[in-house]
Order: sequence, then structure tokens, then C-alpha cells
Amino acid sequence: MNTLILNSLKKKASLVIENRVLKTALVLEVRKWPSSNIIEIDLHMPFTSMHNWNEVNYIKCKVADFTYRDYTPSGWDAETQTCTLFVDAGHNGPGSIWASQLTKGDELGYLQVKSTRQTPVNTSAVICLGDESSIGHILAMQQLAMPAARFSGAVLMGDEHSRSLFNEYFRTPLQPVLRNDVYGHHSLTEWLLKQSYNLEHTIFYLTGNNTMVSQLRKTLKQQGYGQHQIKAEGFWS
Ligand SMILES: Cc1cc2nc3c(=O)[nH]c(=O)nc-3n(C[C@H](O)[C@H](O)[C@H](O)COP(=O)(O)OP(=O)(O)OC[C@H]3O[C@@H](n4cnc5c(N)ncnc54)[C@H](O)[C@@H]3O)c2cc1C
Repeated sequence: MNTLILNSLKKKASLVIENRVLKTALVLEVRKWPSSNIIEIDLHMPFTSMHNWNEVNYIKCKVADFTYRDYTPSGWDAETQTCTLFVDAGHNGPGSIWASQLTKGDELGYLQVKSTRQTPVNTSAVICLGDESSIGHILAMQQLAMPAARFSGAVLMGDEHSRSLFNEYFRTPLQPVLRNDVYGHHSLTEWLLKQSYNLEHTIFYLTGNNTMVSQLRKTLKQQGYGQHQIKAEGFWS
């Protein structure tokens, strides 16, 4: 048997095994934000229990053959086993292409749901800062923050229309901040410097692209916040 046929057979066999370990979710609705690249995807996940979701989770979604990307469920309802993903799809990548092609009624394959180990710690102020790829993560943090009054922060938005949509659409203390630089750390730093947070009882959660996360972490350290007050998770670079 020549190598080409052998490789093709191996690929087919691996696909069969891969598909056996995958769980499926049903796409209930897809909403594309009009002037930005954000895609909201509502899912029904009958094979996953959400009753113990006490930390922010992420779903390892199959976006192409042997290709997986992580996306964060927010707004979950354990009774109906539904949740929403927010995918930032403005770039060229398999995850982005996959999300752009999803439609209502599609089946979505996923390997597992895993915890980021992030949850709002027991302190008086929980501040989340992130880019568009971390909208799901930040809204999940909001869902977990009790009492709700201690939660706030800011999310980068690429244009004014999305900023006003964000304000209209979400019941949230989060402020949408216009992104004036590629990775958004300058815009968020400018916003941050205008706030007056208590140096002692504040914990920051930084999520999104690695440049933004690492630069904001530096700024916060320069402002006097300790290592334990800054929880950072880079999503992409
Ligand atoms: C724990 C975790 C949770 C995550 N949750 C989410 C989520 O809820 N929503 C979400 O959108 N992403 C999320 N991500 C990021 C996501 O998993 C992918 O890494 C990202 O979407 C890129 O995948 P891709 O295949 O589209 O592009 P890739 O093939 O990974 O990258 C292609 C190119 O696009 C660039 N790129 C990647 N992402 C972006 C972006 N957002 N904006 C501009 N350029 C980009 C890369 O630098 C690269 O040059 C999460 C990541 C982690 C680790």
C-alpha cells in the first residue's frame, strides 16, 4: 500500500475515534453584531451538567478536523442546560471561520468543558478588564459575583456602535471602552488611570490578548497592587 493511501486511511480512522469521544451541543441561535466581528452563539448542551459551574469554564470546541479552540460559556442556565458563547471573529483563523459559518440548528462538537480556575474571590471589589475575545469570560465572572455590587470593570470595543449596543444590550456595570490601539492596552490603561480603586481590597482579573494582559499587569504593579491582587489569563497572541 502506498504512503498516500496509508495516510488517508490513518486520517479516516483517527476521525472516527475523534468523533466517538466528542460530545455534541445544539446551536439554538446565532447573532452577528452589526458593525463588529463579535458572534454570539446560544447553545443547548444536553450532555453537560452546569449545576457545579462555580468557576469560569471554557469549552474545547472542534472547529475543523483535529483542530480545537477554547470558547467561554456565559449566561448559563443549569435547568435548561443552555449558555452563550461570544466569539471574536475578525481575524483569519480556523476558530474564526468556524464561528462565522455556524447557523441555527447546527451541531457543535466539543471535547470537554474545563475550568479556568477563575472565580470572583471574597473581596469587596472585583474588577475585570478585557478585550472582545473575553466578553464571555467577563460576563461569566459577573454571573458568579455575589453580591453583584462588588463587580465592575471595562471591556474593549472596536467601534462606537458596538459600544452603545453593549450599553443597551447588557445589564452590567462594565464599561465599554473604545479601542484606539491594536491590542487595546493603551486604551484600557487610560481608562484605568481615571478610576480610583482602593489599593487594599481590590482584585483585578485580566483576560484577552497576551500583550494587553501583560502590559496591564505591569501598569497595575506600578500602581502598587500586589501579585495576589492581579489574576491574569492570556487567550491569544
Ligand atoms: C481559556 C480560553 C478561553 C477563550 N475564550 C474565548 C472566547 O470566549 N471568545 C473568543 O473569541 N476567543 C476565546 N479564546 C481564544 C480562542 O480560543 C482562540 O485562541 C482565538 O479565537 C483564535 O482562534 P482562531 O483559530 O480564530 O485563530 P488562530 O489560528 O489561533 O490565530 C490566527 C491569527 O489571528 C490572530 N488572532 C487570534 N485571535 C484574535 C482575536 N480575537 N483578534 C484579533 N486577532 C486574533 C492570531 O494572533 C493569529 O495571528 C479563549 C482562549 C482561551 C485559552
